[in-house]
Amino acid sequence: MKKEVITQRLSTMNEKGERVFIYAAKIKGHYQRLKLKVHAFLILLFLILPWIKVNGEQSLLLDIANRRFNVFGLILWAHDAPLIFFILAIVVFGLALATAVWGRVWCGWACPQTVFLDGIFRKVDEFIEGNHSKRYKLDKAPWDFRKVRIKSFKYMVYLILSMIITHSFLAYFVGVEELKDMVRSPPSENWFSFMFIVLTTSSLMFNFLWFREQFCIIMCPYGRFQSVLMDENSLAPLYDAKRGEPRRQGKGEEGKAEGDCIDCFKCVAVCPTGIDIRNGIQMECVACTACIDACDGIMEKVKKPKGLIRYNSEAGENKRKMFGARSLVYAISIVAAIVGLTFFLNKRTPYAISMLRQKGIPFRHAQGEVLGYSNFFKLYAKNQVSKEMKVTVALSEQYRSDNIKVIIPQNPLVIKPEGVHRLPVFVKFSKDYKFLKNRDLTLDFKIEIEGKVYLKTKSFHLAFD
Ligand code: SF4
Ligand code: SF4
Repeated sequence: MKKEVITQRLSTMNEKGERVFIYAAKIKGHYQRLKLKVHAFLILLFLILPWIKVNGEQSLLLDIANRRFNVFGLILWAHDAPLIFFILAIVVFGLALATAVWGRVWCGWACPQTVFLDGIFRKVDEFIEGNHSKRYKLDKAPWDFRKVRIKSFKYMVYLILSMIITHSFLAYFVGVEELKDMVRSPPSENWFSFMFIVLTTSSLMFNFLWFREQFCIIMCPYGRFQSVLMDENSLAPLYDAKRGEPRRQGKGEEGKAEGDCIDCFKCVAVCPTGIDIRNGIQMECVACTACIDACDGIMEKVKKPKGLIRYNSEAGENKRKMFGARSLVYAISIVAAIVGLTFFLNKRTPYAISMLRQKGIPFRHAQGEVLGYSNFFKLYAKNQVSKEMKVTVALSEQYRSDNIKVIIPQNPLVIKPEGVHRLPVFVKFSKDYKFLKNRDLTLDFKIEIEGKVYLKTKSFHLAFD
């Protein structure tokens, strides 16, 4: 199929600035088969991941409302910000490294937009409306009973699929148990989640039905960063101009100094963003590899070696450095983030304990009493794991005497899984006691979780004048 290739403007826009829809031809080939497997795996992973449990917890849960994050058995809270920062840094630099080495590999192989569009919705189009020419003709045809029937059926399938994706997406934020309850109860009990479902489903419908490749071309922030993340060593589907040019003359004839490109436009016909890869690397290319398979098929037919369009870099196969300076910087950043994450993970405890002085009067003095001075503190104890925790508080041994007393309403304190307790702590003491020379006092905390004991000591100052 030959078509006009526009180079002065986006191929998805006409001279009036109106949207031009792309009807990409279906193609078979090595990369398409591989992509099918990768996309099927990723879709399955997306759907089942929230249902998988690690250490009795949902494998991946981003409970923003309660500031609690489950990451494959690791429970993180808002105050674990350094850990979250290092995890995000690993993801961001990992993506940057993958881009520097393999170009837009994320776009073509793993981005949810591509995975759902290529892996599900384009297949639905093909199944319901037929191949690209039939789809084009149907869209151009006037609305009659047949068109209404086909389109209604397609929209219904899109709606069901969008709802499944939205519900699975929501499970990552509210948890599968909460999601099951929400689905069973009327919308009036979960207005926020209901509206989230309605808006997200509508957005997905709009995106996959109409917006499609425009998301990658004009909206995706990652797509905009490509030019700064890639360099001459980055891999991308590239046309071998040296081998292909001059065009139209190859056709399998031997012994002629002619290019291998027969100008069949097959690579353009299969491109989901409507570009001609023979014009070089373009921002619209999402590295879907359809043009590679299309051209390989043509090369096979004209009995030329495959790979006229192939994964290559601007530096060329022979001069390409797998790890250039840029990739090295990204790799070092990933290692630094892993070291930081490991350090903070080792420092992390399953509990969080702090003692803060109560606001207001720093001390009280009762005339005539032996333990006439009082200081007030607030004990904050948080159980960061999904097992019960017991906290026993005692004065450190060197301070134990009749001249000082620590009063806590509950001691030992039993905290339910992931629970928090805030308790007042009263310290009553006599001013004559020798330790008051430097005003220091320490409390010993014994924390027990499933038979495992952690000891922690907290020191603080007493006020009495
Ligand atoms: S140029 Fe090739 S790899 Fe890039 S989007 Fe088009 S078909 Fe896919
Ligand atoms: S598919 Fe290959 S031979 Fe056909 S136009 Fe594209 S580059 Fe040339």
